[in-house]
Amino acid sequence: MKIKVLTLFPEMINTCINTSIIGRAIKKNILSINSVNIRDFAENKNGRVDDYTYGGGAGMLMQAEPIYKAYNHEVKELEGSKRVIYVTPQGKNFNQDIAKELAKEDNLIFLCGHYEGVDERVLEEIVTDYISIGDYVLTGGELPALVMIDSIARLIDGVLNKASSHEVESFENGLLEYPQYTRPEVWRDKAVPKILLSGHHKNIEKWRREQSIIRTYERRKDLLENVYLSKEDEKIIRELKKGDE
Ligand code: SAM
Repeated sequence: MKIKVLTLFPEMINTCINTSIIGRAIKKNILSINSVNIRDFAENKNGRVDDYTYGGGAGMLMQAEPIYKAYNHEVKELEGSKRVIYVTPQGKNFNQDIAKELAKEDNLIFLCGHYEGVDERVLEEIVTDYISIGDYVLTGGELPALVMIDSIARLIDGVLNKASSHEVESFENGLLEYPQYTRPEVWRDKAVPKILLSGHHKNIEKWRREQSIIRTYERRKDLLENVYLSKEDEKIIRELKKGDE
């Protein structure tokens, strides 16, 4: 997969992509991530890419032409499917399903806004998806783009060590993940649940499913509405509801 990030602050992107798991994946050529400085496509000598908004109002707006030029310059070399994402608080909320959908594309282009945002006309011209990371407003789109890139990249084959390691995590089966423990067996008088030391895989799986249900019920009840529940799961939920009464 090729990822391009159109931004006024490429250093923010570059600092984050070269570390840890994503950095390793880039080195192994499993994916490429490039930041593109929109300022390099400014139409004036001083690199200015923003201007006042028509109709008045506080703050500056990113102009259409430098973004359009940056986009056209980068898109030329891309082959295969592509999505162009404007990260914006006005978009649909990002989640694991959207991450999975975007992970299937050959190319992703992220456009990061700044100041008051971006001239609407260039958005109409190039953007395929409007996506938000939550109902709050940040100063720029770089952190949202990085959040999305991180969660998409780890779904691409070969990025995580074991292809299966993302399949058991929160949201993968619609539930939150069960609690986990590592050494030591007893930490400050708190012992690891005995079942996890039993070596009995079937019982461990059963315990983990039960813990997932309990955790989801306690922290994110809303998720239980859209998930397949077995008779056994429903029994656990009935017990939890009784405890609430
Ligand atoms: N005036 C815009 C509005 O009211 O929708 C907000 C502009 S915000 C100060 C500047 C930029 O930060 C936006 O163009 C967008 O790219 C990014 N941004 C801010 N909050 C965001 C969020 N919750 N999700 C995604 N991007 C966000």
